[in-house]
Amino acid sequence: MTPEDRACERDAADALAAYRARFTLPQGIIYLDGNSLGALPVATPQVLQQVIAHEWGDGLIRSWNSAGWFAAAGRVGAKIAPLIGAAPGEVIACDSTSVNLFKLIAAALAMRPGRKAVLSEPGNFPTDLYMIAGLEAQGLATRRLAERGRLAEALDSDVALLMLTHAHYKTGALHDMAALTRAAHEAGALVLWDLSHSTGALPIDLNGANADFAVGCGYKYLCGGPGAPAFAFVAERHQASLQQPLTGWFGHAAPFAFDDDYEGAPGIDRLQCGTPPVLGLAALEVGVDLIAEIGVARLYEKSQALSEFFLESLMAHDVTLEQVSPARSADRGSQLSFRHPEAYAICQALIARGVIGDFRAPDVLRLGFAPAYLSFADMAAAARHLAEVLASGEWQREEFNQRAAVT
Ligand SMILES: *Cc1c(COP(=O)(O)O)cnc(C)c1O
Repeated sequence: MTPEDRACERDAADALAAYRARFTLPQGIIYLDGNSLGALPVATPQVLQQVIAHEWGDGLIRSWNSAGWFAAAGRVGAKIAPLIGAAPGEVIACDSTSVNLFKLIAAALAMRPGRKAVLSEPGNFPTDLYMIAGLEAQGLATRRLAERGRLAEALDSDVALLMLTHAHYKTGALHDMAALTRAAHEAGALVLWDLSHSTGALPIDLNGANADFAVGCGYKYLCGGPGAPAFAFVAERHQASLQQPLTGWFGHAAPFAFDDDYEGAPGIDRLQCGTPPVLGLAALEVGVDLIAEIGVARLYEKSQALSEFFLESLMAHDVTLEQVSPARSADRGSQLSFRHPEAYAICQALIARGVIGDFRAPDVLRLGFAPAYLSFADMAAAARHLAEVLASGEWQREEFNQRAAVT
């Protein structure tokens, strides 16, 4: 049996196969980049059209109340909460992941007076590391990096916060959230998890792990659209004393009292800063509803099956590539990454064939398997294309070797 034949059988038995029709994907494209920008749900344009024409056009300013615009950030946050093992009042959809990192790193430092170190790992997602720099420049933080195997021993009495990305953006390698959270707490530190590459792809249990803070992205597996609002989680036990530095009026206890003095809202609303992006929240809500409807447990099961099937298909074509993602599917997120000195050109040659993955400098080809809308047939076809690109050497063509600014 060819991989294509086996894919046919697997797709016929796939309980999630019908959900592909709930997404708009262009003909002839195999989309292996849903971990970078999730696909467009079919319902999103209609919902946005309604919000624009009816709520904005007709309702005008009345829609802050009548169309639930005020409540949208908390409402969408509460829908994200069960996807990440949080209670509804612990999550809010707001700002970008970068801005939410800043707010929560600063808040954690304020909760651990006398400690300044923010511990992370080298090679963490750039913005996570960069967001420490601004606080360093203000004299509030010092950055400390330790390789994954040495994080526990780097947790000394100067560490205020351990900040890690749960599923590594480049390799997909997972951290043991419960064990590292426990180790940090034993050392007197707080923990902030970046769930950008986990949310909507695998089950997370923030409260089961006793996590303090988390952030994550709305435009990856949650399919909220480019620049979608991100989310922030603050464990209930920390909310009353949380001091976040972006003390804007939407985080005020009574924004429309127009008082001169800031008083943070009692709950998770304190994480808000300025007027929320209502259109972006409306699009994000469609994506979150759809991912919640499919269910994270089923998505995770399928994502593991897809990546295993992709590897089997590559093997059927005798392709051997250096895999930088963990070998066991239980140890990785919903992606496979391969190292090759010509990864950039190989990625471009695949894109020219309609297989959209991405390149991560300096030498990684990254293929994401968003389980909500990919089929086993996509896996078989993508593996065949990759085998053909490698065997034919077509990646050597000049057009595939000219670098664009955004990859
Ligand atoms: C995608 C991603 C981000 C994105 O941050 P933005 O502020 O939305 O640009 C942050 N952290 C991680 C780990 C990511 O994967």
